[in-house]
Amino acid sequence: MSFAATVLTLYPEMFPGPLGISLAGKALANGLWSLDVRNIRDSATDRHRSVDDTPAGGGPGMVLRADVLGRAIDEASPPEDARPRLLMSPRGRPLTQALVRDLAAGPGATVICGRFEGVDQRVIDRRGLIEVSIGDYVLSGGELAAMVLIDAVVRLIPGVMGKESSGTEESFSDGLLEYPHYTRPAEWEGEAIPDVLVSGDHGRVARWRREQSLALTRERRPDLAAALPAERPKARGDR
Ligand code: SAM
Repeated sequence: MSFAATVLTLYPEMFPGPLGISLAGKALANGLWSLDVRNIRDSATDRHRSVDDTPAGGGPGMVLRADVLGRAIDEASPPEDARPRLLMSPRGRPLTQALVRDLAAGPGATVICGRFEGVDQRVIDRRGLIEVSIGDYVLSGGELAAMVLIDAVVRLIPGVMGKESSGTEESFSDGLLEYPHYTRPAEWEGEAIPDVLVSGDHGRVARWRREQSLALTRERRPDLAAALPAERPKARGDR
């Protein structure tokens, strides 16, 4: 088993959802990764099975209780479990392709889906939860964010994508956005596929794609472009 995902959620019925179809779903059925979904509410102990309470200090909304979530984590991910414990959270570290790659190379992850206003800070601190954000916007719960993370990771597991190279040539794999794609018909609504792509000259195609990637990255994501290593000055004899 290459990647074992455990998800802690108040809405287990949302899973596998989109993770059960297409690429991720086939890989799940073929045993290339596993999904264990657990209901946080099963760790509640009072007769109302309550999981949340009002925020200390006042304010709107409710907070996921440390004792309930702590128990759920301890059952799903005991201390000897080497997998990281991730808490989906808008204030977390951004989910990047680099983080996705690291996770895909590891044994799996326990992914915790927040709800309400958030999670009691004590359980975040005491259980070493790594907060991960999928973007600068607020969802109503962590489930969709967890699915985004797991989908991005699963497609990098060896054997999941048809061609291993698909993962290495994509956006972000080399710090750049991906070049434009074309396919048949050769002409559509009066527009032809760029000549270079039908030239059969693989060197020219590779150079064109690199130039397109660079131009797109500079135009759309100056932050990524600024982080690129400086281009090596051409040595004499370089082509
Ligand atoms: N009060 C929180 C705040 O202002 O940061 C937002 C809580 S949100 C309504 C409920 C849950 O959705 C969060 O605990 C988190 O698990 C999940 N969530 C919302 N937006 C997210 C994002 N951008 N990335 C990851 N998880 C998110």
